[in-house]
Amino acid sequence: MIVYTTKEELIRHLNRLRGQQKSIGFVPTMGALHQGHISLVTRSIQENSCTVVSIFVNPTQFNDPSDLEKYPKTPKEDLKLLREKKVNVVFMPQSHEIYPEPDHRLFDLEGLDQVMEGATREGHFNGVAQVVSKFFQIIQPNRAYFGQKDFQQLVIIRHLVDLLDMNIEIVACPIIREKDGLAMSSRNIRLQPRERKEAPKIHQILAEAVEKRGDLSPQKLKLWVREQFNHHPLMELVYFEIVEDKTLSPIEIWSEEVNKVGCLAVILGGVRLIDNMNFD
Ligand code: AMP
Repeated sequence: MIVYTTKEELIRHLNRLRGQQKSIGFVPTMGALHQGHISLVTRSIQENSCTVVSIFVNPTQFNDPSDLEKYPKTPKEDLKLLREKKVNVVFMPQSHEIYPEPDHRLFDLEGLDQVMEGATREGHFNGVAQVVSKFFQIIQPNRAYFGQKDFQQLVIIRHLVDLLDMNIEIVACPIIREKDGLAMSSRNIRLQPRERKEAPKIHQILAEAVEKRGDLSPQKLKLWVREQFNHHPLMELVYFEIVEDKTLSPIEIWSEEVNKVGCLAVILGGVRLIDNMNFD
């Protein structure tokens, strides 16, 4: 496993591989790796001759400076995990390597960035588009791997690749959960024991909502979910939406012939957690 911190060295390495007709799989991460990330890595290793994993906590996607400051960083453990998985290349740049000057680009995300996560995190998805477009430019992968855990991000990345006319296959990977159902997230380690114990409720409420789909309209179901969180002493629901999987427009009636995804964000002990489930 080779660890690069500068883009020049990485580009030279990848150009050599491309010259040998090798395929390149790319897994972007912000580190503090867990089995969710590793599932993306495993898939990339299966499907490509070379897998590049980036570890970079992108400052431009954090609208809240204290959230950026508190973001967990475990580089030693991350590298150990990736070495065990036999990843070929890790890219761990410093901020100035990616942003030698401030990035003022504004991407036309056609409103996909204004709903759900975007409604309360001003500029978040533009920051994601900035960093992902830079990484795509540097790495020029054949395939890039994203988790369905960040469902809205996945939809926006697909849009970005179209917008920039990039020839990259975006591969969506299923949500990996803890045994008790909590979606794995780097942020979970910030939960206090009492909060961690309550956290699986998020998944339970989503799963129950899927069950209730036959009995309640989408609007009533949204109210039902909100009520479940209203009764909870530790959790605050930021949003729950049932949306069409490509446009992210809200589902008004169940008979719409589109794929439907129920997405939510919850604040638990000051930690923002997201999850989603298919409502087809
Ligand atoms: P992050 O480091 O949080 O930016 O995540 C890097 C990638 O891993 C993103 O594509 C995430 O969607 C994906 N990911 C994070 N958690 C999970 C999970 N529990 N299951 C599947 N993919 C995940």
